Amino acid sequence: HQDRQPGIESEMSPRPIYDTDDEGYGRLRGKVAIITGGDSGIGRAVAIQFAKEGADVAIAYLDEHEDAQETADAIRKYGKEALLISTDVSQEVNCKNIVDQTLEKFKHIDILVNNAAVQYEQKDVQSITAEQWEYTFRVNIFAYFYMVKYTVPYLRDGCSIVNTASVTAYKGNQTLMDYSSTKGAIIAFTRSLSQSLAEKGIRVNAVAPGPVWTPLIPASFDDEKVEKFGKDVPLGRPAQPVEIATSYVFLASKEGSFFTGQVLHPNGGSIINT
Ligand code: NAD
Repeated sequence: HQDRQPGIESEMSPRPIYDTDDEGYGRLRGKVAIITGGDSGIGRAVAIQFAKEGADVAIAYLDEHEDAQETADAIRKYGKEALLISTDVSQEVNCKNIVDQTLEKFKHIDILVNNAAVQYEQKDVQSITAEQWEYTFRVNIFAYFYMVKYTVPYLRDGCSIVNTASVTAYKGNQTLMDYSSTKGAIIAFTRSLSQSLAEKGIRVNAVAPGPVWTPLIPASFDDEKVEKFGKDVPLGRPAQPVEIATSYVFLASKEGSFFTGQVLHPNGGSIINT
């Protein structure tokens, strides 16, 4: 289903691109970023935009995705370095390793993007096992905590953290109860952390995308679901990953220097109660 981009025939729905037309403005020149789930989808688009803006990027990803090399090639195209770390972020020791390896290669860390996530559709609450619930929480929120815990000691004044939440944190989703619960937790974590790190000059924000056409969208989608995906938002289509990635560039760069504890909502115009 990955090739089937819903709504690509419409003018408002550009073909899938992980890049923008501009050459970049050096907004992240000299920075080093860690991006979890940076091999694919939104994370990949963030990695490429960061490189374009001058950052070297460490990408942590689960090796069942084979896109990592392609993402690294795109980063190198901008003359920046990519460090690929194939690992499972649900385990604390692996998160420590990501930080250690990044420091060994790049000597400093300026930006952390917590973005890796899993989602599994469920019929109802009865059909979710405790193991399933726990695994979703381990990947989607425990890992964010672990990454923060091991990265923060190395962050200095001016550094920043951006966490990927989701519109489901606000709207809920009856077939993604564990997933949407983790996304709500991410927003509370972002706000709490921003308060605690403010005195060090470290900013913490979140991005809560609406529907985005990425590999996360289950391959189990039938034609009807693919066709409907993203149609219910005012812009009438899902986003392409790069349309979400630009929020991360803004938040991580000096342009976002007075933003902390905030959530940006690239969601095609959905009205949400924040
Ligand atoms: P994706 O499947 O392309 O990316 C998810 C990434 O998470 C993958 O790169 C994978 O390597 C990584 N990952 C998963 N489990 C991991 C683990 N145990 N250890 C290490 N890495 C792991 O999907 P995406 O849509 O780009 O998702 C990125 C983020 O965007 C997620 O946080 C997701 O919740 C969020 N989001 C997506 C949408 C959407 O419609 N696609 C909407 C709102 C929010």
